[in-house]
Amino acid sequence: MNVIFHTLASVATASVLSAQIEKRPINSARGVAVLVAGLGIGILSHGALDWLPHEYPLPSAVDVILSLILVSIVFTLARRDARWIIFSCFLGAILPDLVDLGPAMLNKQMQWHLPSVKIFPWHWKQYSGSIYDGSQRWLSILNHLVVAGLSGCLILGYRQSLIRNRL
Ligand SMILES: [Zn+2]
Repeated sequence: MNVIFHTLASVATASVLSAQIEKRPINSARGVAVLVAGLGIGILSHGALDWLPHEYPLPSAVDVILSLILVSIVFTLARRDARWIIFSCFLGAILPDLVDLGPAMLNKQMQWHLPSVKIFPWHWKQYSGSIYDGSQRWLSILNHLVVAGLSGCLILGYRQSLIRNRL
């Protein structure tokens, strides 16, 4: 899926996980466990979203810029400890694309010849939900709405754990 949906899912995950350490410091054993969980859930949620049938409604430059703006705003508004959780969830959520698609993008931009291997199965043809021929447009729109709606509900529901000053 477009990066913006992975970013939304990672902010939702960070909101839920922030509630797990609300009264404990991030450098406690529980805090570290939450960070590791954030990274793992980020990677797995990326897999789930890429596996769902989807088109790419946003061009990649707009997609990346919007995603960085979104995560920066949330990061700025977040409580100090919650920032670590946002970082780990976001890193997990974009890691599969950085690993599998990063070298090919660098090769294209910089005329390099880095080896490019897809190690995450949801980027393999048989498990990827990518659609490029417009054949399942409504299913794609529905899946994007479900991901955005579910993420939005979780962010709203858990915003008090994530955001400073209890906005
Ligand atoms: Zn991906």
